[in-house]
Parts: sequence; structure tokens; C-alpha cells
Amino acid sequence: PEAPKPAPVNKVSQYACQRRTTTENNNRIFTDAFEVLAEHYEFNDLQGRCLAFRRAASVLKSLPWAVRCVEATQDLPCLGEHTTAIMKEILQHGRSFEVEKILSDERCRTLKLFTSVFGVGPKTAEKWHRRGLRSFSDVLAEPGIQLNRMQQSGFLHYGDISRAVSRAEARAVGNIIDEAVHVITPNAILALTGGFRRGKEFGHDVDFIVTTAELGKEKSLLINIIDILKKQGLLLFSDYQASTFDISKLPSHRFEAMDHFAKCFLILRLEASLVEGGLQRAEGDSRDWRAVRVDLVSPPVDRYAYTLLGWTGSRMFERDLRRFARMERQMLLDNHALYDKTKKEFLTATTEKDIFDHLGLEYIEPWQRNA
Ligand code: ATP
Ligand code: MN
Ligand code: MN
Repeated sequence: PEAPKPAPVNKVSQYACQRRTTTENNNRIFTDAFEVLAEHYEFNDLQGRCLAFRRAASVLKSLPWAVRCVEATQDLPCLGEHTTAIMKEILQHGRSFEVEKILSDERCRTLKLFTSVFGVGPKTAEKWHRRGLRSFSDVLAEPGIQLNRMQQSGFLHYGDISRAVSRAEARAVGNIIDEAVHVITPNAILALTGGFRRGKEFGHDVDFIVTTAELGKEKSLLINIIDILKKQGLLLFSDYQASTFDISKLPSHRFEAMDHFAKCFLILRLEASLVEGGLQRAEGDSRDWRAVRVDLVSPPVDRYAYTLLGWTGSRMFERDLRRFARMERQMLLDNHALYDKTKKEFLTATTEKDIFDHLGLEYIEPWQRNA
């Protein structure tokens, strides 16, 4: 006789924005392996395969249980032959030989090393590799290589900014920014976004939205903040990008396009005395400060909800929110607005919840967006 069917369980959605994914990952052995493969395909310009492995990793991250046999995954979306084969390898041997081969691949290692420098993307890394460069000292000694300002700071502060930022350090940075904005205006609005808003314990940077309740006043805000930080001697690097936001150009149809709001990418000097429990430091490092990467974005206040949703991430969560809007709702979502193609109108939102409602999605809390 046939075995009794297990009780039906809710099907896992193919869209990350319909899954709840906390920072607790029960399938790290698989998702770490998938991330290595995804990066490998990214370096080799195979975007489709890269995305397939990122999607598979994202599905496994959302599971409240650990995968113990591949049969248990047969009803899950986004898992294909290749991902399943890797899982099988890991379940049988405790590791994947395919992944180990990539990890020992000279080109992949070098590209990973180079892209770990602030300001160095895959293209530059590739260029350096093709010139035969294999280490930082190779790059720095190579005649004819012109590092831009960002890359120079990247090398200068490499040790500090490649070290994770703790929650306590993020809080201390928040206090510094908060003080600066309130010198400028009493109507300032400051919100932590990015990984720390999603409840992560560590991040590669600290992300904030800063704006003011008076529409239009946000235009000079970042410039003024940068000025104050500079006068306080806290600014180690700043790349300011003025707003190119034009309401008449909405909606932007480009998938995964960066937004057009004013933003800046900073490196700040953080004093140990401001951090509860002290700094994250390398062993033997006795300095009383460290460098921290900080991102600020400054949208007009009527765009606040879209910006908050867009900058909270994760990247996979954002990607699938947009894909869901497009594929399932005939709507266009980006960091500026939500456009209903059927009704030919923009939908207004003052909170993230409004946007989920417009999309007919259950609200997902920030700490459940670690897709
Ligand atoms: P980590 O802890 O590693 O910093 P994170 O999720 O905070 O993880 P970030 O790279 O800081 O990663 O990005 C945070 C969010 O901001 C992401 O959702 C990303 O889509 C968004 N973002 C980052 N840079 C830009 C940009 N230039 N324009 C628009 N959105 C951006
Ligand atoms: Mn971040
Ligand atoms: Mn960031």
C-alpha cells in the first residue's frame, strides 16, 4: 500500500518577497557553497548561472529547517540539477569538490582579492589580472596604474574597512550623523537602513537615509553634513553624488537601476571612546580609532517610503520585489515610486506597509528580509 502522504505544507514561493528570511540560516553549508559558485559565474560573466545559484541560496536561507537529504527539497522552487548535485556532494562528502576547485583557482582568488578593495569592481580587477598582477604589492608597484581617489582610500584603509562593523560601532556612527543633521535642521529625519536594519550583527558598512520634513530642504543636506564631519576631523573620504532625480522621468524602467537621489559614500574616523564595548580591531592593533564605511542617501521626504524599502535590502529581496511587481501585478517598482501600468498611475505611499498593500503582498518585517 502507498505510504500516507505527509500533511500538506504551504508551498515556498519563488519570490523572495513572499518568504520570511531571518538572519538565522539553517543551511549555511549549502548557501556558502552556492555563493562561491555564484561569484565564480559573475567573474566569468555568466549572469544567468550566477543568478540561479543566488536564487537557490536564497530559498535555502528561508527554510526553518536544515536540509538533510536532497529528496526533502523536491517541492522547493529555484533548485535545479546543478544546485541539487552540489547539495548531494556536500551531504555525502561534507564538501563539494567543484567548489573547492574554484576556491583554489588562481584567477578567481585574485579577482576576489582585488574586488575586496573599496572602489575596485570586477572590470578593474579583471584588467589588473590580465596585466599579470596577482597581489596588492604587484598593483602598487606597477608603473602606469592610476588609482582613482576611491581606490587610493581603499588601499590606505584596507585593513579597517575589510573588517566587519559591529552593531555597537554602527550605533556610534548613528550618533555622530544624528548630531550633525540636528545642527543643520531641527526637522531632520534619520533612519538606519541596510543590513543593520535587517537585524544583522555585523556589516561591511553602515547605511542611513537622511532627509528633512520640509520638501526641498533636503537638497543641501548631505553637503552640509559632509562639511560638519570634515570640520570635526572625522572625514577620511567622501564621494558625493548630487541628485539627478527628476519626477517627470518616472518611472525608470531599468531593472535594478541605482536610484537618482543625492547620496554619498564615506569613510569616517570612529573613536574607540564612542563605542560601547570598544572597537573591532585586529590583534595587536592598539590604535584608539578605526575607519568605517558609511553610506548616506537623501531623498525628498515624499519619496521616503520607497527609499526606505529600497535601501533596506537584501539585494535579492529587492530584486524579487521588483520582479513580483512586474510579473504578477503589471507594476513598476523602484526606489523612487510605484507605477501601475494598468491604471496608468503612480501609487502614493508614506510607509513601507503602504507599498506592500499596493502590491497585494503580506507585510514582511525588515528582519525577515534577509533573503
Ligand atoms: P552589508 O551588511 O554587507 O553592508 P547590506 O545589505 O547593507 O549588507 P549594502 O551594499 O550596504 O548591503 O546595500 C544596502 C542596500 O542599499 C541594498 O538593498 C542596495 O540595493 C541598496 N543600495 C546600495 N547602494 C546603492 C545605490 N548606489 N543606489 C541605490 N541603492 C543602493
Ligand atoms: Mn550595508
Ligand atoms: Mn551600503
